[in-house]
Amino acid sequence: MTPPRKINLKSLSKEELREWFVSIGEKPFRADQLWLWIYIRNKTDFMQMTNLSKTLCARLSEIAELPTLHCTDIQVSQSGTKKYLWELEDGRFVESVYIPEGNRRTICISTQVGCAMGCLFCATATLGFQRNLTPYEIVGQVLSVIRDIGEKPTNLVVMGMGEPLHNYDNLMKALYILNDSDGLALSHRKITISTSGIVPQIIRYTQENHPFQLAISLNATTDTLRSRLMPVNLKYPLQDLLQTAKAYAVNNQKRITFEYVLLRGVNDSLEDAKRLLKLVKNIRCKINLIAYNPAPGNDPFERPDKEQIIRFHEALSPLYAPITLRLSKGDDILGACGQLAGKPRPDSH
Ligand code: SAH
Ligand code: SF4
Repeated sequence: MTPPRKINLKSLSKEELREWFVSIGEKPFRADQLWLWIYIRNKTDFMQMTNLSKTLCARLSEIAELPTLHCTDIQVSQSGTKKYLWELEDGRFVESVYIPEGNRRTICISTQVGCAMGCLFCATATLGFQRNLTPYEIVGQVLSVIRDIGEKPTNLVVMGMGEPLHNYDNLMKALYILNDSDGLALSHRKITISTSGIVPQIIRYTQENHPFQLAISLNATTDTLRSRLMPVNLKYPLQDLLQTAKAYAVNNQKRITFEYVLLRGVNDSLEDAKRLLKLVKNIRCKINLIAYNPAPGNDPFERPDKEQIIRFHEALSPLYAPITLRLSKGDDILGACGQLAGKPRPDSH
């Protein structure tokens, strides 16, 4: 007979962990003790948890587990950006990226293996949707990167592989675990979820009033172009999306971020900039311009030259909003936006 599968305690919220301890006849405060071991001390061996009795440690080792993600490759870019490839239990792969920049240390995490959204400019899209990550697999990316770099990130962005709002429940659970003040305590102001624009899920997010920051990948200023670049627009066109974004900014009293990937000769003209100004002028927002990063096997577009990017940036200056320009960090290791395809290097096994 195969032994019963051990329960993965890293997929439980603190409340669920308390309930679980009660269900095995222990006091709920054991959950708080264990929480510190997992999230502050980053330990995975119950026998090292010195404030738990030896008997309890032994019992936990028998019925529960605290797995860590299996890293099969780390690539380091010239800019210091690191890309991690994780092999999951079912043999599938996902990636995370660590981006150091001055005092800022950002970790970018994935939420799905592949992605169903089919955006034309994105390497992840070529994988199609394979499956959602569990809360443990989402949190585990952060824990393992912290273990590697030796310190907590200042920022966390949910901008890796996958459409985060298609894995809503697991993502929220993971983010509250990471945000918990007795654990890693990553500030909700420094956690950003980026979505391709799933309107009903943005409405849900707004109604539930979660504290994390929201970013929407806009990428085009007309429905015709956006629908061609991002098929999600056929279902949720610009007007609905922008109305929803505005409602979020008003109800949750937050600035929403609009991301805009600049594609040469496609969406980078001054007319585009003018239309963009018009579309967002009544919304409390930030704009994040991203220069297109081609990926091998998926490079149907080109990056505009620097002068054009600067002209586009300047054309937005009448907007009373912060505008940032993200020039690819880590594109030499295919770790920049839109380049994550979760594939091992040919020589990495
Ligand atoms: N799926 C989510 C988050 C991951 S993509 C989303 O689409 O929002 C994170 C950002 O990278 C998005 O704004 C997306 O538009 C952008 N992106 C995708 N492919 C890109 C590429 N090849 N070059 C530059 N940015 C890209
Ligand atoms: Fe999916 Fe985002 Fe890539 Fe679009 S840009 S395919 S939503 S990961």
